Amino acid sequence: MTAAIIDGKAFAAKVRAQVAEHVARLKEQNGITPGLAVVLVGEDPASKVYVSSKGKQTVEVGMNSYEHKLEADTSEADLLALIARLNADPAVHGILVQLPLPGHLNSDLVINSIDPAKDVDGFHISNVGLLGTGQKSMVPCTPLGCLMMLRDHHGSLAGMNAVVVGRSNIVGKPMAQLLLGDSCTVTIAHSRTKDLAAVCRAADILVAAVGRPEMIPGDWVKPGATVIDVGINRIERDGKGVLVGDVHFDSAKAVAGAITPVPGGVGPMTIACLLANTLTAACRAHGLPEPKGLTA
Ligand code: NAP
Repeated sequence: MTAAIIDGKAFAAKVRAQVAEHVARLKEQNGITPGLAVVLVGEDPASKVYVSSKGKQTVEVGMNSYEHKLEADTSEADLLALIARLNADPAVHGILVQLPLPGHLNSDLVINSIDPAKDVDGFHISNVGLLGTGQKSMVPCTPLGCLMMLRDHHGSLAGMNAVVVGRSNIVGKPMAQLLLGDSCTVTIAHSRTKDLAAVCRAADILVAAVGRPEMIPGDWVKPGATVIDVGINRIERDGKGVLVGDVHFDSAKAVAGAITPVPGGVGPMTIACLLANTLTAACRAHGLPEPKGLTA
């Protein structure tokens, strides 16, 4: 068997086009332009690339982008004051603080100071609680992107055995909640899981969010399973830097029914879902119907 490739790049382009269409309608019919504020503290090179890519894609779908670049030694009080201003600004519908923050800043405190209605990353404790109790929330972008691709591929996920490898607050845990919300039977695996191979082999849906290059080989994959590889790992191969996932793609592709590649799978969906969340936040802020198919 050779797995179908789930093309996240093409899917993300489709999501962005849908967002752009909704934004155009919001402007025309309601005079509203959704706005996303991104806050970057410090000079982390990867974070700078993410932030500039987010800003560019925000503008491309017709939204306003507000970038706030702060010095690495910015005090917590100054950062909290900026967030308070953004919370109060009606032109800003979404706020994202790029993580990781420099060590002297308390990330939990900073994230929990964002108005939950504008928390387009879905990391605020209120949104975590709302998601956990099956209520309307802002959903973290990476797991939301995975869910969209799974729904698109399978239609209903009800009754499927889903295994999520990884229990981080930004990927593993919310991914598991979303799969549970779609009536999967969910197992969360982590570094202390016994016989991880056997756990993975029971999965109809296998989501890898570990951060270890090619850790999951094809013989851990149930024949015909759908594999979602969240991992983004930069390694050296044949003297060149390459990006690989947490799944060994070639061996898994020979067994799985469908698989996301790295790059070009989950990665592009993350920013597309950030834009979708900003649109959703703008609609909610103005009491307008939410776009269909772009939320959990
Ligand atoms: P993280 O916070 O480091 O969490 C990694 C998880 O993997 C932890 O729960 C850890 O278990 C588990 N783990 C580590 N070694 C393991 C092992 N040998 N066996 C089983 N489980 C193991 O990472 P993250 O932030 O969730 O990110 C995971 C990956 O996704 C990374 O490669 C990251 O770059 C990527 N990512 C991609 C996107 C995207 O846009 N596509 C977004 C976010 C993250 P313990 O809890 O027991 O330590």
